[in-house]
Amino acid sequence: MPNLEYMREIYETLHRHPELSEQEYRTADLIAKELEYLGFAVRRNIGGTGVVGVLEFDGPGRILALRCDMDALPVQEESGVAFASQNPGVMHACGHDSHMATVLGVCRLAAQQRERFAGTLLAVFQPAEEVVVGARAMLEQGLFAEHQPDRIVGIHNWPSLPAGSIGLQAGPITAFADRFRVTFQGAGGHGAVPHKTADPIAMAAAGVQNAFALAQRSTDSSSPQTLSFGLIQGGTRFNVIPSQVVAEGTVRTISSEDQEKMIANLHRAFAASAKLYGGDYDLEYSRGVPAVVNNRDCVEELAGIFAAEIPEVPVRTHGLASLIGEDFTYYLEKIPGVLLLIGSGQAGAVNELHHPSFLVPPKTLETGCRALFSIVKGYLEE
Ligand SMILES: [Zn+2]
Ligand SMILES: [Zn+2]
Repeated sequence: MPNLEYMREIYETLHRHPELSEQEYRTADLIAKELEYLGFAVRRNIGGTGVVGVLEFDGPGRILALRCDMDALPVQEESGVAFASQNPGVMHACGHDSHMATVLGVCRLAAQQRERFAGTLLAVFQPAEEVVVGARAMLEQGLFAEHQPDRIVGIHNWPSLPAGSIGLQAGPITAFADRFRVTFQGAGGHGAVPHKTADPIAMAAAGVQNAFALAQRSTDSSSPQTLSFGLIQGGTRFNVIPSQVVAEGTVRTISSEDQEKMIANLHRAFAASAKLYGGDYDLEYSRGVPAVVNNRDCVEELAGIFAAEIPEVPVRTHGLASLIGEDFTYYLEKIPGVLLLIGSGQAGAVNELHHPSFLVPPKTLETGCRALFSIVKGYLEE
């Protein structure tokens, strides 16, 4: 079977049977069996349902790790394709099915051509990326205890890049993805006598506006960053001013300096808003996953490999940073590497991750496989 056909079959099978974060049992089983069939030594249940395939070639050499993610999302699929999800309310809407199919496709080629290579290929299938806990769980459970990679390359399909192209950018590529919860504390009362209350609804309204204003007027506009509120709760009845309102949101930045500034801005905005209406505020801020920062030397190495091995594939090298969160960053704290973006955009299709009709075109599998296999050759060929 040609490799593209193999990857499509894997992709469609996985797409049909998506599983939520930390519940990737069937997915892990399929992957482990494929890897075993291809001749990889397989370790299962690392960091939950994580799977690692190890292919040791004959001669000594470098250790290269390829990482993909396994989980789907709580989204009801609306694509209408024949291989649509058979698991109601769950869908591979982020294209992780395509990442797994691509890495398996690369594993298959490497196994078929094993006499060309030396060293070790590690294929890392990571659970629970969407809830950004899978990478850390795998690392804590000895993912690299036996083989410490010299390099790690992760992939994500990227709908803002056309299918057939790839994205390779040095520096920050995803964001610090944090969450916060602010409580405005006032004094409730009758809606007809607001002068006898300290109105937390007024504080929250001002707090949202002031936070937005400072996010725009008091941050460096040359550095991508944003904040959004996703929840506001307070009150029980139209004519009763409540005593408390709670709001929650997310802050996205690409450096810890910007992150600190955003936190200070939130305090200023909420303090001023609470004070204006005679109340108080409490801000709980939790730092989430740090930004993925692609190693410059590795990016240059890969650029050289792509120029030599796949010169016909367009490579975009700038303007790719996004404010999503990705837990690939935890591998990069230990191993030099790159998160490589594989174009998945196509004219006339939904080009938006997490959308109920999002699908990854076959071209993406093909280009992703060529790019990753060229990296295998670049690092491990004798
Ligand atoms: Zn996602
Ligand atoms: Zn994703």
